[in-house]
Amino acid sequence: MFYNSDMKSRSRIRLDYEPYILRLRHPFRVAWGSRETTPVVLTQLEMDGHIGYGEASMPPYLGESVESVARFLGRVDLNDVSDIQDIENVVSYLDDLAPGNYAAKAAVDIALHDLLGKVWGEPWFLRYGYDPGNAPCTSITIGIDDTEVVKLKVREAESYAILKIKLGGTNDREIIRAVRAETDKPLYADANSAWTDKQRALDMIFWLRDMGVILMEQPMPCEMSGELSWLKDHSPLPLFGDEGLKTIDDLKRFGGLYHGVNIKLMKCGGMFNANRMIQLAREMGIKVMIGCMTETSCAVSAAAQLSPAADYADLDGNLLISNDCFDGMKVVDGRIVLHNLPGIGVEKK
Ligand code: MG
Repeated sequence: MFYNSDMKSRSRIRLDYEPYILRLRHPFRVAWGSRETTPVVLTQLEMDGHIGYGEASMPPYLGESVESVARFLGRVDLNDVSDIQDIENVVSYLDDLAPGNYAAKAAVDIALHDLLGKVWGEPWFLRYGYDPGNAPCTSITIGIDDTEVVKLKVREAESYAILKIKLGGTNDREIIRAVRAETDKPLYADANSAWTDKQRALDMIFWLRDMGVILMEQPMPCEMSGELSWLKDHSPLPLFGDEGLKTIDDLKRFGGLYHGVNIKLMKCGGMFNANRMIQLAREMGIKVMIGCMTETSCAVSAAAQLSPAADYADLDGNLLISNDCFDGMKVVDGRIVLHNLPGIGVEKK
């Protein structure tokens, strides 16, 4: 519990938030839609002169909106929580306010982590005991597009060591061939649940393997558990769940359908739950990717604090936008570099 310097009264903690529209450098197209902007809500928690920053990002498939996030945040008063340094306690307070609302909860969780890290003068990767030297390379995402645009994006991504290629449109093989005309880098592929025929999905995965793809994300819809289980048994590539493995409960129930899980703060409610998911995945023998949505460097840097514990990283949301309002996590020679800054390691521009 925090007290003012006179030790007579507890410090007050103040939550502020504002909507912000992220502009994408290129229209972002995946199997289920296309967009040029993404709405986010930026949060800040202030206490004793320290400010912690957070963010909720709302891609359409999660069902949250600026309105729903604002409605949830309007109900949050961390002064009602007995000890805000007990983050598990804060997370259960947020869960008691309303079910779901994971991006809104992440916006509070991230700001609280940043605030506490600044109060303690410690970055979170150190607090977790993670070695920043183990931070993986991050992939950068190439959305579905005409092959000439795909080639342009591959050239723009020259400084990144791994590309994640979105598939599930009508020109998957043309896209992969266009990528291969430009580079021999290792590739991840992500079909965003688009394939619904297991044999065709398997044939495609064998072809992708031959084209240098090393990992396949969400090849089929999560509802097709029988087909996914068959595909996992036959696939020459590790299969990662994303839309199918949002929360810690999803991981417990459906983790066995995949070789790996793409953990994202906006799906699971923030850093506390993401770190729990990493531990659970390890216990289950499931590989870990740490990922993100279209986000500023605020939420991406929060996820990056966990990246030394992950096998793979796809932390590129901030790289795909043109109006990032934070400075934070950096990528050098394709690898995530964590600096010794307290909290989540960000500064507002
Ligand atoms: Mg994905």
